[in-house]
Amino acid sequence: MSLVLYNTMKREAEPFQPYCTGKIGFYGCGPTVYNYAHIGNLRAYVTHDILIRTLRRRGYNVTHVMNITDVGHLSGDNDEGDDKMIRSAEERGKSVLEIAEFYTNAFFSDTDRLNIVRPNIVCKATDHIDDMIALIKRIELRGFTYFSGGNLYFDISKFPHYGDLAHLKPDSLKAGARIEVDSSKRNPQDFVLWFTKSKFSNQALTWESPWGRGYPGWHIECSAMSMKYLGEQFDIHAGGIDHIQIHHSNEIAQSEAATGIHPWVRYWVHNEFLVLDKTKMSKSSGGFITLQNIIDLGYSALDYRFFLLGGHYRSQLQFSFDSLESARNSRRSLMSSFRHIAEKAGGLASLDEAAGKMPQGRTAEYLAVFEAALDSDLSTPKAIAALWGLVKDDESRPLDILGAAFSMDDVLGLNLAKELRKNFTESENDMNVDEIEAAIAVRTAAKKAKNFAEADEIRNKLKAEGVILEDSPHGTTWRRG
Ligand code: AMP
Ligand code: ZN
Repeated sequence: MSLVLYNTMKREAEPFQPYCTGKIGFYGCGPTVYNYAHIGNLRAYVTHDILIRTLRRRGYNVTHVMNITDVGHLSGDNDEGDDKMIRSAEERGKSVLEIAEFYTNAFFSDTDRLNIVRPNIVCKATDHIDDMIALIKRIELRGFTYFSGGNLYFDISKFPHYGDLAHLKPDSLKAGARIEVDSSKRNPQDFVLWFTKSKFSNQALTWESPWGRGYPGWHIECSAMSMKYLGEQFDIHAGGIDHIQIHHSNEIAQSEAATGIHPWVRYWVHNEFLVLDKTKMSKSSGGFITLQNIIDLGYSALDYRFFLLGGHYRSQLQFSFDSLESARNSRRSLMSSFRHIAEKAGGLASLDEAAGKMPQGRTAEYLAVFEAALDSDLSTPKAIAALWGLVKDDESRPLDILGAAFSMDDVLGLNLAKELRKNFTESENDMNVDEIEAAIAVRTAAKKAKNFAEADEIRNKLKAEGVILEDSPHGTTWRRG
């Protein structure tokens, strides 16, 4: 079965077929580094990570490029409002570049903690001004620009595919009801390629250009940097759904206008929002939660990753601490089941043995279900269900279960092997499964013989070793407390 991906451009799921056999160019819009990423932004990057890991697991050689926006992004995506970087620098009494460096580091510290694989290429907008100017010149040469009110604009009326991605009808393009009107624009959806007469007298970063000293509009950086590193046509472009209507529509217009190549990108992948009390979590509203906030409350970053995987990336996900709490409990119980399985498989040494083990029998079937789930437009909820099925399968050999689970974890990124290793090495003095089960057998016999004092003594001894017993009509189960 092949990977089927939902393509926003076509509004349908279609089999994935890269431009070149075995090689994939992937561009995901990166953060604007004027503040911490909130956990909604991080949903976008976990989505990219799952897709990239899925492709790599299938043997594709993926080049993942991510931009860092450190110039030109205004508070409104369509050239209205303040410059986000300048405002943040002023509020914090720092330079724009200091702010950018601080929040870029914070961003990667978050993505590392979420076990998101780092991109192959991370490119800063301010390092690529020459590439942007070169691209704008190409767009200008092909007749898609006009100069007005001190800025160079892209004229969307010259580009027949404008609005294809957002499925905008030609009539709605004229309406202009959406946004504050910039009197220099011919059409409301035209957008700035290069600001010269800056509306921000305090703009710290400006560069010489054929259109005068100034700075680039926000959208051009993604066209310039993606094509620099991935070529003029590439396979996948990803971001949150808020980018469909303006940012990605403008990226397509600029790129195809410059090269004359259509389509620029083959698959457009967009994640839905993480919402808080039914409203989109957003950086500018200030009411957002960071990864550090939830870590400070005692959760692990992997609890949040697990929470995200419980929802499909194209469905809105409602965040609440109650749901995070159940994700944590669920991950704990998963890890404790794995601990049992690993103990039965031979303890610490079994972890290396299981890694890279070819799955067989029933475990291979769970793995096939898991792969089918991901192939079906990255259904992580179904993939997690397959992992649970595997864990609960008491007929398969523990070593086979571990091997299949580690293989699933190549995509899920829950650090199963690492967490288990930590668990084993931190508790070398713990009782092993055989010792625990032997003690339980003695206790069961004592209870049968109505020797309750001895039974209680064994229960307490086990408790002191961190092993909790639970009696039920079907027998006694145990867990590490
Ligand atoms: P930004 O740093 O604002 O440019 O956003 C970074 C990424 O996060 C983009 O792909 C956005 O589309 C995405 N994003 C923003 N808000 C949310 C949200 N509440 N839920 C999911 N993704 C979001
Ligand atoms: Zn972008």
